[in-house]
Amino acid sequence: MSQSQTHQLNTPSADLLARLALIVGTEHAVLDPAAQQPYLKEWRDLYIGRTPLILRPGSTEEVSQVLALANEARVAIVPQGGNTGLVGGQIPSETGSEIVLSLKRMTRIRSVDAAGLSLTVEAGVTLADVQSAATEAGRLFPLSMASEGSCTIGGNLATNAGGVAVLSYGTTRNQVLGIEAVMADGAIWDGLKALKKDNTGYDLRDLLIGSEGTLGIITAATLRLVPAPKDQRTALVAVPSLGALLPLFRLAEDMSGAALTAFEFMSQRIVSFVARHTPGVRLPFLHVHPWWVLIEISHPLENSAAPLMEPLLAEAMKRGLVADGVIASSATQARDLWRVREAASEAQKGEGGSIKHDVSVPVALIPEFLRLADAEVERVCPGARPVPFGHFGDGNVHYNVSQPEGMEKAKFLALWEPMSHAVHGVVVGLGGSISAEHGIGRMKRDELATVKSAVEIDLMRRIKSAFDPNGILNPGKVL
Ligand SMILES: Cc1cc2nc3c(=O)[nH]c(=O)nc-3n(C[C@H](O)[C@H](O)[C@H](O)COP(=O)(O)OP(=O)(O)OC[C@H]3O[C@@H](n4cnc5c(N)ncnc54)[C@H](O)[C@@H]3O)c2cc1C
Repeated sequence: MSQSQTHQLNTPSADLLARLALIVGTEHAVLDPAAQQPYLKEWRDLYIGRTPLILRPGSTEEVSQVLALANEARVAIVPQGGNTGLVGGQIPSETGSEIVLSLKRMTRIRSVDAAGLSLTVEAGVTLADVQSAATEAGRLFPLSMASEGSCTIGGNLATNAGGVAVLSYGTTRNQVLGIEAVMADGAIWDGLKALKKDNTGYDLRDLLIGSEGTLGIITAATLRLVPAPKDQRTALVAVPSLGALLPLFRLAEDMSGAALTAFEFMSQRIVSFVARHTPGVRLPFLHVHPWWVLIEISHPLENSAAPLMEPLLAEAMKRGLVADGVIASSATQARDLWRVREAASEAQKGEGGSIKHDVSVPVALIPEFLRLADAEVERVCPGARPVPFGHFGDGNVHYNVSQPEGMEKAKFLALWEPMSHAVHGVVVGLGGSISAEHGIGRMKRDELATVKSAVEIDLMRRIKSAFDPNGILNPGKVL
């Protein structure tokens, strides 16, 4: 078995910084500390890094030249897309010696093939812009998440992002046909094939997807499109008990089959945070209910989603699985219902510190997970407020915990490690994963070795070594 590798990386000299800046053009090399700030801290201020230089290349060729030079000089490069990642992967370390490579200028939609159901875009195109390009072509790009206005397709691929439509369409990995990437030594790999089937040896595309910037820089991708649904119905329902969630999900699957495209759940507490802290959100129910579920049904034929949704809700009510419910009667109303779910992450900020866990367990074990995790949280921090929500149909719970009312934020956040340890212990005990969709980054790096076998860790290290022998790509992340 190979031992863990440490690489001797250098602090870039003034001469190297000047040469790197020339590659992208000095107007796209950010040296000013104030202008660097948006790239150096992440969304929740959990990681704040330092850098001598932020490079904003405009083409694959420029990325290639930057990497060739950085590799030769043994200088670390941290790729960054929309900076919405939730595990610190896109933020340079505090040493001030790592260079940030932002892909945000690479925003070309290179081609759209509506008939062939594919489109090729550069890494810096936002997810929302990819969706719009697909819609304009009369197709659907099904990846969707609350950060879609800011996150980039390069970041989505690098994290193998999930989101709210995985239930029906799969994760990012399922939406990718081909990749163009720059390797650590500057070599450009053009793997932009639009093939559904390609069994020609090891799948480099699948290795790069989910590699969080540690194996190569993704510069473009050919994405799979699907036919746009002709009819869609969205409902928000109130569920009377934790025990009713699973039977309701099974009923929805039984009665709508492949047309069930979302089944997102929220605890009453997170809904109350959304109502309190999100301007313009209106809740459709007068009464308080312990659980809420957002159900979406999408159908390829006109007027075919409502005939599935209405009997589903009627049957669920008859069985006591739903206490109240509303079906959106227009696209605007559907957006309003989705807004309740999408505002969940942001709304927690208004309640002080929150300790977040992005975990998955087998779907049928979600209720047991919630019971056990709540007990662990209360043991570690009496009075802390769990606010679980997430992608029920994927077994993916965002098991976030808000600080007890009145507690000092810093004091609560100091409990991150013992609390996560306790919650992840429950997850592992139930056969789950400590990272369902956000990745490992820096946040879960040290824990990875405790949940993967020695064989897996060793193979991962060897893969890293093969792709990046000098360890310049996003050091200290994942492994
Ligand atoms: C409000 C909110 C809601 C969210 N909801 C979801 C959700 O439902 N599902 C989900 O999975 N995630 C979610 N996220 C997390 C985040 O949006 C995703 O991880 C997203 O894929 C990150 O994309 P990005 O462009 O912002 O990447 P960044 O944050 O910039 O980077 C993320 C990682 O990818 C690497 N990287 C970025 N671009 C490249 C590239 N071109 N080549 C190689 N490596 C690269 C970075 O080094 C880093 O390790 C949410 C985040 C927020 C703030």
